[in-house]
Amino acid sequence: AKSAGGDQWLNYTFEMDRKAQHNRALDQDLKQSIERNEFTLAWQPQAALEPSGETVVVGFEALLRWRHPEQGLISPDVFIPVAESSGDIVAIGEWVLNAACQEAMRWARPLRVGVNVSPTQVQRGDIVASVRSALLASRLPPHRLELEVTEGMVIRDVGRAKAALTSLRELGVAITLDDFGTGYSSLTTLRAFPFDRMKLDRGFVATMTEDEVSAAIVGGTLDLARRLGLPVTAEGVETEEQREQLRLQGCSEIQGWLIGRPMPIEHWSDLTGG
Ligand code: C2E
Ligand code: MG
Ligand code: MG
Ligand code: MG
Repeated sequence: AKSAGGDQWLNYTFEMDRKAQHNRALDQDLKQSIERNEFTLAWQPQAALEPSGETVVVGFEALLRWRHPEQGLISPDVFIPVAESSGDIVAIGEWVLNAACQEAMRWARPLRVGVNVSPTQVQRGDIVASVRSALLASRLPPHRLELEVTEGMVIRDVGRAKAALTSLRELGVAITLDDFGTGYSSLTTLRAFPFDRMKLDRGFVATMTEDEVSAAIVGGTLDLARRLGLPVTAEGVETEEQREQLRLQGCSEIQGWLIGRPMPIEHWSDLTGG
């Protein structure tokens, strides 16, 4: 038994070590990824949900993709955490902001553009300067830009996060609380910051038609948002049934595979007007 336990421990540390090594290698590669032009954006539509059930695309979220020279396409769920801990997310985030604003300026229609912002960009970088410079360089009207932040940004320094978000809103950009309901301080975060919108996490949407608890959380969140005067975008809407249930409960906007998957922008030229 003793030796089995020992083996298990060895396997465990071996696994930890392998993962740490892999992350260090990724981290090295990430440092060159901007110059090597390995990043690209995928665009996913966001649609207003009319009381009639009709949907009208009102904007797009920019989702980062990394084409690794040997490993192929790597998901942001894998490399964003690595870039967060090394601090490289600040430079990568600036690349995303500039690329997204420039792309949106090429569209004939003045649609909204959503950009994800990491906690580290708020806590360690100068997010206000980065956003201001991306707006100036692209000449995108600030009201078209919507920054998606998560509750994680308040963990280190609430005061700093609050000052940054207030300055960003003074620039005229909108601030959205992403993945609502997944953090441990959703309600406290809602009370502490002046958000313009919230996104209901797709975990609740995925289970709302089968699970009563999820259905109650979705309904309760939509009621809460209504009382706060906050519009809600439901994430991860995949089925007509989910869309219908969200409509009945007064959700004003949806995003998900039902409307469209994240795609290269050329795919959406009919909607953007080129
Ligand atoms: P997020 O901002 O919550 O983005 C939503 C994620 O859900 C995206 O995954 C999207 O592809 C996926 N999704 C959308 N609709 C559906 C659906 O109907 N069904 C299912 N199963 N999934 C759906 P993705 O693109 O892999 O991004 C994952 C996360 O990585 C994002 O979550 C965001 O937190 C982060 N991320 C992506 N791009 C950036 C970026 O430029 N900067 C930062 N800091 N984070 C980013
Ligand atoms: Mg997002
Ligand atoms: Mg989200
Ligand atoms: Mg998410």
